[in-house]
Amino acid sequence: MFTRHDSLRPGYEAVIIGAGGHGLAAAYYLARDHGMRDVAVLEKGYLGGGNTGRNTTIIRSNYLTPEGVRFYDESLRLWQDLATDFDLNLFYSTRGHFTLAHTDAAMRTMRWRAEVNKHLGVRSEAVDAAFVKRMIPMIDLTCAGHAPIVGALFHEPGAIARHDAVAWGYGRGADRRGVQIHQQTEVTGIRVKAGRVVGVETTRGFVATPKVLCAVAGSTPRILDMLGLRTPIYVHPLQAMVSEPVKRWLDPIIVSGSLHVYVSQSARGELVMGASLDPYELHQTRSTLDFAESLSSHMLDMFPFLGEVKINRQWAGLADMSPDFAPIMGITAVEGFFLDAGWGTWGFKATPVCGKTMSHTLATGRNHPLIEGFSIDRFARYQLTGEKGAAAVGH
Ligand SMILES: Cc1cc2nc3c(=O)[nH]c(=O)nc-3n(C[C@H](O)[C@H](O)[C@H](O)COP(=O)(O)OP(=O)(O)OC[C@H]3O[C@@H](n4cnc5c(N)ncnc54)[C@H](O)[C@@H]3O)c2cc1C
Repeated sequence: MFTRHDSLRPGYEAVIIGAGGHGLAAAYYLARDHGMRDVAVLEKGYLGGGNTGRNTTIIRSNYLTPEGVRFYDESLRLWQDLATDFDLNLFYSTRGHFTLAHTDAAMRTMRWRAEVNKHLGVRSEAVDAAFVKRMIPMIDLTCAGHAPIVGALFHEPGAIARHDAVAWGYGRGADRRGVQIHQQTEVTGIRVKAGRVVGVETTRGFVATPKVLCAVAGSTPRILDMLGLRTPIYVHPLQAMVSEPVKRWLDPIIVSGSLHVYVSQSARGELVMGASLDPYELHQTRSTLDFAESLSSHMLDMFPFLGEVKINRQWAGLADMSPDFAPIMGITAVEGFFLDAGWGTWGFKATPVCGKTMSHTLATGRNHPLIEGFSIDRFARYQLTGEKGAAAVGH
């Protein structure tokens, strides 16, 4: 699907660090929409091998802040045409998305989110427990008596997609337009002169460039250390697992913040399941038995009939968390250095809109209007974009 390049050019108009969905999408739109084709994407491992190939693919736009809702909704719009753009089946499947409420206080947040969503034209409704039961007949509404379900936020456009195909589609599209993708090429330093980026050091030598986009998710603090830049990003492992394939019984995506669990059923019949972050900072992608046990027990609270179903695989990624659960995007204090980070547990759905907005920002040198609420200087101004109520376990 991609051209293999034996050597790096001495310089490029722009260098993108990280061949995950975000880096590849930015490269694709730079070439397609801005005519910038003299671009290299440098990847220390393999294409899509970071969080892009490890996530549980929930796509939704039912966030809490107007900045978030507008941004993710534009992404949802872009998702609709992506398979046609790429001429590649992304297995995009609209399922409907339930965020369950187990207390009256949680229900209040669901109503709040529904109102913000509807105000901005996003289809979300606060629904009662009877509606949940009608749409998901197999659910035990009492959750084994631990945390009875009182209602939910229902977001009809909620969807899932094939994550690897998204990376391949953007990669192939960028490659065909002249972008060079170099795998097994790690960026080890960034050269700056008089406050401006002049190039990057790599494991295959120095490459000159006036523009660098950093799209490395869990490795963001390491790249920023190379420049002496600071963000409040901290890194936690985020684990997930899938069951053996079973007959199709679950259409919607279900999230429960109180039970720390979310689940969808893939086109192959596997149950794709996850929970919240591991509760400590760690730059490691190991899996733990604790996680498998607690996630399974909460799954059984909701769906006791799954007791005999086997777990097929378990894995982890590195989540680059921001304090307000919103991303950190755009220009930085170092001229020519652009950041696309703070994607924590929720960045897959944003892949298309990140590519669109970051390519604009790189090409023009100015933040795209849709990312104004996500600029790095919001922390210095104490003006956070608080998304915790909509992005914790929900992804
Ligand atoms: C278990 C799990 C479940 C998730 N579920 C969801 C979900 O349901 N919905 C959702 O929207 N989001 C979800 N996410 C979050 C989502 O996966 C990420 O936010 C998103 O994929 C980030 O994409 P990216 O392209 O920025 O980063 P990545 O895909 O991680 O790509 C970054 C790349 O940079 C490379 N790199 C790092 N350092 C260097 C270097 N020095 N030089 C060169 N290359 C380098 C890495 O090898 C990597 O390939 C989940 C994440 C995990 C881990």
